[in-house]
Amino acid sequence: MAVNILLVEDEPGIQELLKFNLTQAGHRITVTGDAEQALQFLRHGLPDVILLDWMLPGMSGIDLCRRLRSDERYQPVPIIMLTARGEERDKVLGLDTGADDYITKPFSPRELVSRIKAVLRRRAPQMTGEPVEIDGLRLDPASHRVQGGGQPLELGPTEFRLLHFFMTHPERVHSRTQLLDQVWGDDVFVEERTVDVHIRRLRLALEPSGHAGLIQTVRGAGYRFSAGVGR
Ligand code: CA
Repeated sequence: MAVNILLVEDEPGIQELLKFNLTQAGHRITVTGDAEQALQFLRHGLPDVILLDWMLPGMSGIDLCRRLRSDERYQPVPIIMLTARGEERDKVLGLDTGADDYITKPFSPRELVSRIKAVLRRRAPQMTGEPVEIDGLRLDPASHRVQGGGQPLELGPTEFRLLHFFMTHPERVHSRTQLLDQVWGDDVFVEERTVDVHIRRLRLALEPSGHAGLIQTVRGAGYRFSAGVGR
């Protein structure tokens, strides 16, 4: 899986090392040298993972992490802190701030690559490409097939991605904005009511096997995929 990575790091040596190794591992990496640049980049697009250096000129990595975690738009993006300090206290502070993981410098690029994978498996299971099955509804990303109670269901590409996201993030309410970011990506400009249109189509597609009720409308908040109810 190719992962879009944003590296926020001011040391040229580490920038080069990571750019080389992460590209070799098949990932796409964008490098920014400080928090302000990173924020500017993030306004235009969300990466799959942020690698965030602790000590940055200007706003520190910890402050940037805190800021991203307090903003709904950035909450789904996993953050791995890069720190030169080995102190337990700092690691705890990093995780308290909302980082998903931390790695202490110097680290091996290979270790970082496996940490990235682990964080994504935990935070963004829709990126790992494994089949998901909930309540007799089965989605296989590899073959792009959906089955309900063993029978094939026909879904358009957007409905497929939407269902994949829901099934890998069940029992949570997702706002329309979050769904747009996660399912449509932010390169495209779409209005929030587009989400409603595709939700309607998705429900229709799930009706033949009786799974339409798994997609619930949460008034004033968004949508939720919830198993075991409404069938
Ligand atoms: Ca630094």
